[in-house]
Amino acid sequence: MDGMDLNLIRIAKWVEKTVLKDNERKYFRFRMARFYGDICTGDVVGCNLSCIYCWIGKAREDPQLSGEFYSPDKVAEKLIDMSKRSDTKKIRLSGGEPTIGRSHLLALLELLPSDISLILETNGTLIDRDYADELSKFGNIHVRVSLKGATPEEFERLTLRGGEGFYLQMNALRNLINAGVSVHPAIIDLTPVSGLAKLTEKLADIDEKLAVGLEYERFVPSPRVIERMKKHGFVYP
Ligand code: SF4
Repeated sequence: MDGMDLNLIRIAKWVEKTVLKDNERKYFRFRMARFYGDICTGDVVGCNLSCIYCWIGKAREDPQLSGEFYSPDKVAEKLIDMSKRSDTKKIRLSGGEPTIGRSHLLALLELLPSDISLILETNGTLIDRDYADELSKFGNIHVRVSLKGATPEEFERLTLRGGEGFYLQMNALRNLINAGVSVHPAIIDLTPVSGLAKLTEKLADIDEKLAVGLEYERFVPSPRVIERMKKHGFVYP
């Protein structure tokens, strides 16, 4: 699964076979996180990318052996309960790639009260026009698209997947904006500063808001991740 030329949609379908069963989706953790103030977070198993800096380890590398299946009702119950106990109205889906298993995600969104905001953290590669339209039905969702580099070449280097994924990410931003979904892009600070001006221009071509709202995500090194990066020829720092 770590070859460079595999098609991202095909990989996502393959991963979905492992992490979705009867509309139950695999999660490896539910937790409170300090991002965005305090936020109740469900971390899903499985992803269609293979980022060299990925921190979720086994939950990406071995979805078969990671996590447990949860129905949309169970996930809603858990996250709503956490939100009540911690007195926050913010929840988040993160971890692996939460747009894998579209039927589960949409069923979960149906179950969330409108006064709870959901932040969907995604690599965006699966968000085509239809998917963006479906997400637009929910007024309480905000999407954070985590960009993997400022060019197709960087995308390839950081994700070990084909560079066409860069364009899928740009399309996701365009589709979400066109559908009226609240969205902002983020980029990991492993990306060379030299490429950021061009990226900002590209984002502004889609919508000025995206360029202004670009978030710089801080890379958090761990020995395991640094080892993986070294293996793929990326020396840090
Ligand atoms: S998109 Fe996120 S979960 Fe997927 S491989 Fe990259 S860092 Fe890991």
